[in-house]
Amino acid sequence: MAKLTVNDIDVSGKRVFVRVDYNVPMAEQDGQMVLNDDTRIRATIPTLDLLISKGAKIILTAHLGRPKGQREPSMSLRPVAIKLADIICRPVAFVDDCLGEKVENVVGGMKDGDVVLLENVRYYAEEEANDPAFAEKLAKVAEVYVNDAFGAAHRAHASTEGVAGIVAARGGQCAAGLLMERELKFLGDELDNPERPFVVILGGAKVSDKIKVIDKLLEKADTLLIGGAMAYTFKLANGFKIGKSLVEPDKTDMALAALKKAEERGVKFLLPTDNIVATPVETGELNKKGRPVIKLENHRVNSEANIPDAEEGVDIGPETAKTFAAEIAGAKTILWNGPMGIFEDPRFADGTFVVAEAVAEVTRSKGAKSIIGGGDSVKALNNAGLGDQVTFMSTGGGASLEFLEGKTLPGVAALSDK
Ligand code: AMP
Repeated sequence: MAKLTVNDIDVSGKRVFVRVDYNVPMAEQDGQMVLNDDTRIRATIPTLDLLISKGAKIILTAHLGRPKGQREPSMSLRPVAIKLADIICRPVAFVDDCLGEKVENVVGGMKDGDVVLLENVRYYAEEEANDPAFAEKLAKVAEVYVNDAFGAAHRAHASTEGVAGIVAARGGQCAAGLLMERELKFLGDELDNPERPFVVILGGAKVSDKIKVIDKLLEKADTLLIGGAMAYTFKLANGFKIGKSLVEPDKTDMALAALKKAEERGVKFLLPTDNIVATPVETGELNKKGRPVIKLENHRVNSEANIPDAEEGVDIGPETAKTFAAEIAGAKTILWNGPMGIFEDPRFADGTFVVAEAVAEVTRSKGAKSIIGGGDSVKALNNAGLGDQVTFMSTGGGASLEFLEGKTLPGVAALSDK
C-alpha cells in the first residue's frame, strides 16, 4: 500500500487524532439508547491496541446517525464510550463536545496510553460541509492524524479529510489505521491481481447502484453471477417479461451495454435461469412511513423464462442456486456484494444462503480468497453463522462500492504517502 499506516509512525507520547467508524445501530430501551451491535467498535481494536502499546494519547472522533448539525441526544456517542471501555478493559473518558475548551482540558490531562472519545462530530453542520475553520478547531489537539474509518472515507468531511490536511500542513503525519489498511488491501491490492478463476457475485436491489462496479469488474473477473432484483433489469433488457418484479426499466440500456462488454471480453455472465416468485397483495394498511403494506403470498418456483404478470421475483430459484454454487466451488478469488433475493424474509432467503454456504465452503476446503463487499451480504453471512469462514468482510457499504468502482476516496487520498 502506498499510504503510511500506524505501523510506520512514531506516536509515543503524541496526541493522536483517530477518526473511527462508530456509526453503530442503536435502539431505545426503557428510555435509554442501547447498542444493538458492536461489530464496528471491535473492528477498531487492533489499531487501538497498537496505539496504546506504543504509548500514544488517543483522541477518538466519530459520527453517529444524521443529526444534521443539531445536538440530538439519541445520537450521542456516550453509550459507545461505555461499550468501548468494556471491550478494551480500560477507562475511556467521554467528552460531550468534539472541540473547544472542554476537549482541550481533558486532552491536556491525558497520559500516554489514555483513550478519550469525543462527542458526535455531526452535531456541527460544519463537519459535513468540510468547513476549514471548523477543521482547524478539531485539529487543535492533534499532533498525528490516523483514519481507521473506511466506512466514512468516501466522504470529504472535516474529520475525514479537512483535519488530515491541517495536520499534514503543520508537518504532522497522517496514517491509515489497521482496519483501513486491511480494507484497502482486500478491496484494492488483492483484487487488482486476483488468483484465477475470479468469480464476482452481485445482487441487491438496483442495477443503477452497482453498474459502475459491474463495468469495472468486467475488466478483471472471469465470471459474473447476477442475482437479486437487479437481475430483472437484465431479464427485461433481454426481452423477457418480469411481472411485478422490482426493476429499473430506464436502465435496460446500461444492462445491455454490460452484457455486450462481457461478451467482448470473454467474461462468463450468468443470470438466473429460474426464480422464486410470489404474488404481491395489498393489505389496505400503511406502514410507519405512510406507504402501503404489501404481503407476498403463494410463493413457488418459476422455471419459465417469463414471470407471469401478477407475480414478482423474490429470490433466485434452486436450479440457479446450484449453478452459482458450482461456479463458486471452482473459484480461487471471490468478491460478493448484495443478496440474491429478499433474504430478510426466511421464505426468500434460500438463494442467498446457498451462495453464502458455497463461498464459505470453497474458502474452508480449497483456500480460496473470499472478499465480501459490505452491506447486506455481510448480514446474510452473519445470519447464517458463516461470518468467520470467509477471508474478509468489508465494514464499508457505500465506501466499498465507490472504492470498487475505482474512485479515489477522499479520506484515503488525504493520508501521507509512504
Ligand atoms: P443492496 O443494498 O442494493 O445490496 O440491496 C439489498 C436489498 O435488496 C435487500 O434489502 C433485499 O431485500 C433487496 N432485494 C434483493 N432481491 C430482491 C428482489 N428480488 N426483490 C426485491 N428486493 C430485493
